Amino acid sequence: MPMADFGEKLDFSASKFTKLKSKGDLIRFRIIKAPHYDGQHFLKDTEGNWDVRPCPRINKKEKCEFCEMFFEAHASAKKEGLSKEETFKLTDPWKPSVKFYYPIINRETNRFEIFQTTQSVRDAVEAEIDMGTKVLKKDIIVLRTEKPGNYYKFSMVDSADTKPLTKEEKAEFKKGKETDLNIYLSGSEEEDSQLAVEVNSEIIEKETEL
Ligand SMILES: [Zn+2]
Repeated sequence: MPMADFGEKLDFSASKFTKLKSKGDLIRFRIIKAPHYDGQHFLKDTEGNWDVRPCPRINKKEKCEFCEMFFEAHASAKKEGLSKEETFKLTDPWKPSVKFYYPIINRETNRFEIFQTTQSVRDAVEAEIDMGTKVLKKDIIVLRTEKPGNYYKFSMVDSADTKPLTKEEKAEFKKGKETDLNIYLSGSEEEDSQLAVEVNSEIIEKETEL
């Protein structure tokens, strides 16, 4: 993937990240360090075009006008006793979405890349950490299945089937470790898993309490 010059601020819409673009796409990788995350709102303008805005609540723990709309919509849906479908219709336009950006070694390209992924993949990584898995020592495979409830299939590769990093990959690993992701991203850095858990549970709490 192309490297940015230091100080160059990249736009989030830039296709600088490795993504699973369509059904059946698969990636096998090794995590280099904790991810950055970025909260966004996908709004539609009057012509029906997407207008993507950062979410200051998720990114900086600051007030976010769109989240306010989201919580208000939830509150009014509850007050009016709307059905699940109607509530979804009312609240969904304001719903924040979170993306995670993991610095990785792609085991296919053997390069340092930034894997852009979803909350569900991040939760799966965290669950492995909770179970005591050394996630930085094993390969991970994520497959885009598009199956409901299991949109991205996540699996850890058994140590016996994990090839050690090559000399080239080790050099890339070092490069990834030393790269300041703030150059690429405007969202927050996940300093450790616990911090992310807190941020995450705050979102869930707010959503369920409404
Ligand atoms: Zn927001």
